[in-house]
Amino acid sequence: MSAAITRGWCPSLFEPMAAGDGLLVRVKPRVEGVKAAQLRELADAAAAYGSGQIELTNRGNFQLRGLSDKTLAAFSGAVLSAGLASTDPAVERRRNILVSPFAGPAAMTVARQLEVWLESDDGLHALPGKFGFAVDEAAADISVLQVQEQMMVALPGGYAAATPDPVAAVRALTHAFLGLADAGMARMAALVAARGAAVLFAEAGLSMVVLQPSDAPPQVGPMPGAFGLGLAFGVQDAVMLRGAAGLAERFGNGCLRTARARSLVVVGTGDGVSGIAAAARALGYITEPGDIRLRIAACAGLPACPQAFSDARAVAAGLAAHWAGPGVLHVSGCAKGCAAPGGAAVTLVAGMQNYDVVRNGRARDTPVAHGLSLDEAVEWMREKRLCR
Ligand code: SF4
Repeated sequence: MSAAITRGWCPSLFEPMAAGDGLLVRVKPRVEGVKAAQLRELADAAAAYGSGQIELTNRGNFQLRGLSDKTLAAFSGAVLSAGLASTDPAVERRRNILVSPFAGPAAMTVARQLEVWLESDDGLHALPGKFGFAVDEAAADISVLQVQEQMMVALPGGYAAATPDPVAAVRALTHAFLGLADAGMARMAALVAARGAAVLFAEAGLSMVVLQPSDAPPQVGPMPGAFGLGLAFGVQDAVMLRGAAGLAERFGNGCLRTARARSLVVVGTGDGVSGIAAAARALGYITEPGDIRLRIAACAGLPACPQAFSDARAVAAGLAAHWAGPGVLHVSGCAKGCAAPGGAAVTLVAGMQNYDVVRNGRARDTPVAHGLSLDEAVEWMREKRLCR
């Protein structure tokens, strides 16, 4: 396997990461979403001060590339004046909440309260920058889920507890994490693996149950009262983002939400809205939930990432016409596996010379085939009926 460098932090607006194509920062939407005017300001700032490339992360954050020491302050100023960030770097580090675009009123109330808590509680200074929360999504270190009429708090692995006060329960679990995690432990999944979820729930004074996994709904194309704009490999440019702002004003309520599936969701469209799919496709967005590109993940790779051994997105684009397997094909520029940290049906892991192949696992897991050229990797997938 190729070596990967694991960094113990995540970039934010005030803590840029050095990449092969300049500085990289993240802009985190507030729980209410992003207004069209804010989106245009973000697109303009990305084009003026960075590369103009705007990625969406699987936590629903905007990731901007190609900034420099000379342009970073002007970019941050533009983001702050658009109302897209707090002025406090410590708050920006921990303000990690992913909210489903379909969260109902009760879930939105919880999301707003969690956001206020994260922005105001200085006692959270020890919370790792990677630690995240989710509402109506089981995709975070601590999630709040509405199961029928019942509010639940959940940890990775489906361990959960019903609660009448989900905000208090999230706070209790967060403090349980801070009290029990070993130094350097950044994620709840690691603590659950080390100590067991029951210890955490007991520490938080909650009764643990185990939830059955449920299928996550698609977040691209027409949905009740909304329309999801999919991004091939999670990437768009400033022109597309300005166009998305226009779609929100023309077809929705002028607001967009970011979603787990690295999609932008135009909300408030009403049902059966016509014309938005064609307009979104013309901008370059994916509008069909069955589009094969939504089942292919690829990281930035070369030349953007200094750790990369291949241009992962170019390789993935070439494989898009061939992937026929169930689940997701992941092309990773190294064994860190940024684009699909939870794993994929097949992962091609680029190394110094060639590719390793991992089945049903993460990029850093033990491969089932080593040192294949790209052609050999495709042939390997064909033999398994995973490729056309
Ligand atoms: S997985 Fe891709 S983006 Fe992440 S460190 Fe490796 S090459 Fe870079």
